[in-house]
Amino acid sequence: MSVPLIDGFGRVHRDLRISVTDRCNFRCTYCMPADGLDWLPREDLLTFEEIERIARLMVDHFGIDSIRLTGGEPTVRANLPVLVQKLAALDVDLALTTNGATLGLLADKLVAAGLRRINISLDSLRPERFEELTRRADLDRVLDGIDAALAAGLNPVKVNAVMMRGINDDEIVDFARFGRDKGVEVRFIEFMPLDADLSWSNDKVVTLDEIVTTVGEEFPLAPVERSNSPAAVWHYADGKGSFGVIASVTDAFCGSCDRVRLTAEGMFRNCLFAVDEHDLRELLRSGASDDEIADVISDVVKDKWAGHAINQVHFIRPGRSMSQIGG
Ligand code: SAM
Ligand code: SF4
Repeated sequence: MSVPLIDGFGRVHRDLRISVTDRCNFRCTYCMPADGLDWLPREDLLTFEEIERIARLMVDHFGIDSIRLTGGEPTVRANLPVLVQKLAALDVDLALTTNGATLGLLADKLVAAGLRRINISLDSLRPERFEELTRRADLDRVLDGIDAALAAGLNPVKVNAVMMRGINDDEIVDFARFGRDKGVEVRFIEFMPLDADLSWSNDKVVTLDEIVTTVGEEFPLAPVERSNSPAAVWHYADGKGSFGVIASVTDAFCGSCDRVRLTAEGMFRNCLFAVDEHDLRELLRSGASDDEIADVISDVVKDKWAGHAINQVHFIRPGRSMSQIGG
């Protein structure tokens, strides 16, 4: 029988984010330095068997029921569908976050392996701006990837767009229209201080309020109640779908956070913004039992803080960028 993975504030954790690689075929300006980062040596990455073991023990011991694969770019990890198949067998809500560039080739294989839902990151619908932001001229491949995900039957297909003031905030309405026309839920994400080149500042954050007002002026909205999910969702009054805003900065959802994270090299983190990590790979490779690993996980979660405090003076920026932690 499983026991809930509960922290000192009574929050129950059910959602495991697994980074399957720190590598990426893009170099998004807000996520990676122009020269890239030093990739982890292959042997430092958890193997698929090691990832499966951690995932399984978290399902068995703690009733984890949601797993999201991320990175780096998860689709650059060789044989990703093999891992998807292993995790889909755990009877969890399994999802993938990807930049979408290789979905034209992979979407059918991922669905055949058991993937049902997907989030695709896309921060500009304009080719030149897309290239500036990602340092790759791949907008068409990503748009094709979104079509391939829809054609493969992934449902829902969500499109994540990080909004940055003066960079792409003039595309809010374009993204809303894109989501309505394509039948995908666009999720606007507030820019967080996890960028590699330390360019984040509070005034670059395009807030939930601004986003909702801007969309609502073009397409009238019907308000809905906020759920446990970090994305607050608004439905269009004409019934043509919905969009979300992940307001990690201006309306942090730390009070209801149910996520824990495993990095590509097996470090366990109790928060995206955690400054400490705990080495599960060392435990796995030195013969620790499932119970011993579960005890470490349980202790780490007990120590989770109340919230990230981005807007307060005592905020400590994690030493790693989003691509290394796993978004
Ligand atoms: N490569 C995959 C992708 O881009 O979807 C998965 C990893 S990426 C780190 C996961 C998500 O984090 C993406 O949606 C990306 O836009 C988001 N992200 C990266 N850096 C961010 C930042 N500084 N603030 C907000 N979101 C960020
Ligand atoms: Fe790569 Fe995703 Fe980071 Fe862009 S946001 S550099 S696609 S990991």
